[in-house]
Amino acid sequence: MIVVMRPGASRAELEEVIRRAEQMGCKPHPIYGESRTVIALVGDLTGVSREIFDEMNGVATTMRIQEQHKLTGRTARPENTVVALPGSDVRIGADEVIIMAGPCSVESRSQIIETAIAVKEAGAKVLRGGAFKPRTSPYDFQGLGEEGLKHLAAAREVTGLPVITEVVTTEAVPLVAEYADILQIGARNMQNYGLLNAVGKTSRPVMLKRGMSGLLKELLMCAEYIAANGNYNILLCERGIRTYETATRNTFDLNAVPVLKQSSHLPVVADPSHGTGYREFVPAMAKASVAAGADALIIEVHPDPDKAMSDGRQSLSLEDFTRLMRDLRRVAVAVDRFIGENEDVDSTLDELEALETA
Ligand code: PEP
Ligand code: MN
Repeated sequence: MIVVMRPGASRAELEEVIRRAEQMGCKPHPIYGESRTVIALVGDLTGVSREIFDEMNGVATTMRIQEQHKLTGRTARPENTVVALPGSDVRIGADEVIIMAGPCSVESRSQIIETAIAVKEAGAKVLRGGAFKPRTSPYDFQGLGEEGLKHLAAAREVTGLPVITEVVTTEAVPLVAEYADILQIGARNMQNYGLLNAVGKTSRPVMLKRGMSGLLKELLMCAEYIAANGNYNILLCERGIRTYETATRNTFDLNAVPVLKQSSHLPVVADPSHGTGYREFVPAMAKASVAAGADALIIEVHPDPDKAMSDGRQSLSLEDFTRLMRDLRRVAVAVDRFIGENEDVDSTLDELEALETA
């Protein structure tokens, strides 16, 4: 159920609704929109009657929410959510299409810093890099762990780019949250409810990737776990699903973009790297993602893709990425969006030099 407050309702009136809801044993989630504030009531609603709220001061109306994703659905919040990354001017879900780029895995300090400088110069706004890697084989490279997080922090220091990195286990959430500007929940963990609850209790934005056999309504219910814990800064990510097709690593389900945008107010990210699995297909599907309405893209980029310790086959070289960014800008304009201009990286190159000689 949602309680819709009148425009201009006072703080005291809002707090009284929250207090009354708590008294009745349900959990109130205030959602502050531009035009109105609503309070979504979730949990056990047996014995909660709409009439009680209808008669309260400051209340415009009450509604039953039919959909299961009460906090992440559009009924409770018709306008788009914009996820702002604290400490930067990056806002995901507004008119600018945000490009996140970087290697699959952080392999060394110089690798991540070199990549960060190059992707920033090309116009990326967020640096990606896995320090804890969920690998199919236990014998494959598992990531550098905390050392990798420190390298990411160094790359952020040099370039100013906020970083996104994956958290694989519940125990590692406090550590990864110390370093990451966005916590990534990988496809294999989409339905790891303990992990979802844990990231929901942090104040960090979370990018939730669709599981390889996850339905879109399941993805939304997993996002709902994060929101139900009080963290509404969630990005939904399409990264391809398993089908019978073997020509590509996954089948990149771009239907997800308009479908998710219709049913949820959360920003949608597209990952054409995992979606295709082959670098030669990444540019076409990256452009298609922007055309389809994605709010952000996450793209794997490596200074020497053939030598990458993970996902080299789908990683773009620095040059290929720079070329792609030029094309993406044109596509963005065609769909009334934009991709930020190149930034001057001379000062960051100086900083890098100073760091290396230190
Ligand atoms: C990744 O982003 O490198 C990754 C492991 O992605 P996914 O969880 O989508 O496989
Ligand atoms: Mn990868």
